[in-house]
Amino acid sequence: MSLATYNKKRDFKITSEPAGKKSTDKASRFVIQRHHASHLHYDFRLELGGVLKSWAVPKGPSLNPTAKRLAMMVEDHPVSYIDFKGTIPEGNYGAGKVIIWDKGNFMPINKDHEPISEKQALDAIKKGEIKFFMNGKKLKGEFVLVQLKNDAGSNNSWLLIKHRDEYATDKKYDSEDTVSIKDKKAGEKKTATKKTTPKKTPGKAAKKK
Ligand code: MN
Repeated sequence: MSLATYNKKRDFKITSEPAGKKSTDKASRFVIQRHHASHLHYDFRLELGGVLKSWAVPKGPSLNPTAKRLAMMVEDHPVSYIDFKGTIPEGNYGAGKVIIWDKGNFMPINKDHEPISEKQALDAIKKGEIKFFMNGKKLKGEFVLVQLKNDAGSNNSWLLIKHRDEYATDKKYDSEDTVSIKDKKAGEKKTATKKTTPKKTPGKAAKKK
């Protein structure tokens, strides 16, 4: 995948997102952006091959190995997107608020937990399974992204699964729980401000609907 699809979907005169250019930086960084578009999801991005390989995870990543999280592979994003946060304007692709939920470094690994090269990692993605060690603020330890195979040809559905290690937890782990209270309050305030337009149906009963 090139960055053509990414660029095609956006009007950079309007959105503050960065334009798509390949990077030559070799650092293996990752970012997870919580994206409140029409449907809330978490954009999981790994820096590989001069782009951000990207998956949209509706429920967000989990540290619980029994929680297999659906991850839809989406178009590669430019590496400069790693710092993007803000609000994509209404009427544009992916309109809504983006915050950086977690970021850090990752290391692609093989089944023996040994580091592999960037090229091997890209090949692993092509084959439909990539393992990696994450070192973020929220996400740590080993994970795997594995493509769901079906007969319909190209399939963008993958699963993001935590491996059992010292960072795994058996507790219910909801990504939403770890969103800071401050951020939640900010979101509520905005919604409340929007709703101040006069309504002709006051009363609690009406509001409940
Ligand atoms: Mn998104």
